[in-house]
Amino acid sequence: MTDASPLWFDPALCLIGGAWLPAASGGTLPLVNPSDGSEICRIPRGGAADIEAAVQAADAALEGEWGAMTALERGRILTGIGQLVQERVEQLAALEAMDVGKPLTQARADALALARYCEFYGGAADKVMGETIPYLDGFTVYTLREPHGVTGHIVPWNYPMQIIGRSVGAALAMGNACVLKPAEEACLTALAFARIAVEAGLPAGALNVVTGLGGEAGAALAGHPNVQHISFTGSVRTGALVQQAAGANVVPVTLELGGKSPQLVFDDADLDAALPFLVNAGIQNAGQTCSASSRILVQRGVYGEVKARMADAYRDLKAGPAKDDLQLGPLISARQKQIVESYLEQGANLPVAAHGAISPQAPETGAYVRPTLFADVPPDHVLAREEVFGPVQVLIPFETEEDAVRIANSTDYGLVASVWTRDGARQMRLAKRLRAGQVFLNNYGAGGGVELPFGGVWKSGHGREKGFEALYGFSQLKTVAAHHG
Ligand code: NAD
Repeated sequence: MTDASPLWFDPALCLIGGAWLPAASGGTLPLVNPSDGSEICRIPRGGAADIEAAVQAADAALEGEWGAMTALERGRILTGIGQLVQERVEQLAALEAMDVGKPLTQARADALALARYCEFYGGAADKVMGETIPYLDGFTVYTLREPHGVTGHIVPWNYPMQIIGRSVGAALAMGNACVLKPAEEACLTALAFARIAVEAGLPAGALNVVTGLGGEAGAALAGHPNVQHISFTGSVRTGALVQQAAGANVVPVTLELGGKSPQLVFDDADLDAALPFLVNAGIQNAGQTCSASSRILVQRGVYGEVKARMADAYRDLKAGPAKDDLQLGPLISARQKQIVESYLEQGANLPVAAHGAISPQAPETGAYVRPTLFADVPPDHVLAREEVFGPVQVLIPFETEEDAVRIANSTDYGLVASVWTRDGARQMRLAKRLRAGQVFLNNYGAGGGVELPFGGVWKSGHGREKGFEALYGFSQLKTVAAHHG
């Protein structure tokens, strides 16, 4: 840590039952700044013992002050957390930029989204209602929405603040007590958020944060017999492991596992409107976004123009240190850089429409890759099917609407899709036919609204976070049937 460091707390301590503690084992892990490869600090290497303590603390919170609170009281605390986050947007953005390598503008947007999640779920906490059900004579039947109990939240490194906001925010609103395991590559804003939550008056044990490795702290949380719901965002491979571990305890899981999300551009599309979305949705956060649009399907009549205009945009792209706030930062780690480079090698025989650049200010020790736009990519090529999780997009030409749907639906994923066309009937047809959890018509992402339920089908996962829908996921329905004659 240097004087210039934006760290304003001790990152070597986890939050368990309201106390700031090192890992029970005393072990620590390095946290690396991907912009230059330097060590930022060390974080606790939490393991099974720390998870055990955190789950017990969460249980105690449910039996104590937290569990006794009304929905209104919980909502007010969450709203207060959101207000503190809002006041500290710059502090949080600086931490995230250092930890994840996000350009400051993107890190700031994530901090604002975290504040908005707390505001949304704070306001929604006392608006989740049951219903009365007309039934047999002599009965009154109604439903109650109750918390699961202790919920586990396993969060990746790409959008820590947004993912904490959407999962922990909704879980707390419904009265669950949370154990949060951030990714070992990016823990600082999770720890900062916990400090802010304590400051805002969240009772001890309602939120516990244990840092550590996925195979240690993460696996212990996923398999803990007293955890009653798991929310996981990350890779398909790890998601399957988490589901298996939760399955052994017959515990529900929400899995958000990424995608290979297409944008379909038809001959009649408004290309001026589409162009910024076609590129930005692929390179935001250096392409390390679960809902990144990595496939651009373009109808033959405008294929040449779209390719030329996207290539122009790519030639203006630059990746550099987070503090320089260019369009792209580094990737999260040297390991992620290796993964992306191995995909680029697999595309060595494909035509390249254009590359972006790496800024001359980017240190050699940072995890930078050049943004790359491939052209004329066969739909069955590995780069058109697998999630690269880097700034790599493929252009795929198509002839007819039928072709477009077949190609769009031909990967194992189904998270997000978008359609660019002026034909209203086609918009309606494709909204139904595209296999995805969210479909956007003449836009991509709709600004990422916290109000919009989000999640995938098939290998993109199951369950929905964000919006009101998440409040149903983080609660369970009880039916009460009263016989009064
Ligand atoms: P990962 O899925 O292994 O890690 C995500 C989270 O799971 C981290 O908190 C990690 O500590 C935890 N974890 C790891 N192993 C675990 C286990 N056995 N039990 C419980 N928790 C465990 O992802 P990664 O290895 O960091 O990244 C690899 C690839 O995953 C990327 O290249 C990308 O394709 C994908 N990914 C997707 C998303 C997304 O938003 N959908 C996010 C990150 C990574």
